[in-house]
Amino acid sequence: MATKNKTVTNSLPKEPKKICQNKDCNAMGRYQPTSNFYKSRNAYIGYHPYCKDCIKKVINIDNMETIYEILQTLDTPFIQDIWREALASVDGDYIETYLNLINSTYKTRYENARFKDSIYEDSTHIERDEDGKEIKEWNDEWQGYYSKREIDYLNKYYQDLNNDFKIITTNHKDYARRIAQASLIMNDTYNFMRDNPEDKDAVSAYNTAVSNFDRLSKSAQFAESQRSASDVSLGCFGRVFDAVEKHNFVPQHIPEDKDMFDKIIDQFMNINKSL
Ligand SMILES: [Zn+2]
Repeated sequence: MATKNKTVTNSLPKEPKKICQNKDCNAMGRYQPTSNFYKSRNAYIGYHPYCKDCIKKVINIDNMETIYEILQTLDTPFIQDIWREALASVDGDYIETYLNLINSTYKTRYENARFKDSIYEDSTHIERDEDGKEIKEWNDEWQGYYSKREIDYLNKYYQDLNNDFKIITTNHKDYARRIAQASLIMNDTYNFMRDNPEDKDAVSAYNTAVSNFDRLSKSAQFAESQRSASDVSLGCFGRVFDAVEKHNFVPQHIPEDKDMFDKIIDQFMNINKSL
């Protein structure tokens, strides 16, 4: 599967520059550096024949076929969840944002995926009751009432933490769960605030959620800035969990966070009631 970075095959010229094949290109006929072209995951294609500027011009977000077509040439999967994230891009360069997300941010998950592995459905399809409220059920593992969407989010976040850090003891697991829950609340309060920009409570709920997440991450020494050169190999979480295991972790932060956390849960419940 590991065929990445195989950029040049015998059938392609070893030129560092390329000519865009779009007849309406502003740079038509002129050589451009290959960094102006998107690389295909298919080594035989090499690069998309159109330069990045032209691709930006030909895509039309109201016609998804234009996006699929480009991703097909790039042999890169279309993932609906990531596309939705790319649509939030402020500069409006959706394809650039999408490719950055899938090639860098979510690299571990999708680096071996090809266009045939595309996922066109939204994983966060929300199940609602007659009143339009998200349906929530008791979940033993997460010890609370959650919708399927929320459980999916929490499990995925927890799984990602598990992949990145050593999560073994009960303490480790509790921390990872709380961080996942804090992330879920931050995500939902953000979406609610974005949809209700005039609502002051929505803004303060989001701010509280962010400060709780930050506080939780910091008390777990999760923040990047606290990582020293000597513990890079273990990772911050690893070091923190190591400290927790050795009981030299500062425990007085925990109840404080728990209170904060409960407050946010309450706010979160209220937000959902008003949805
Ligand atoms: Zn062009």
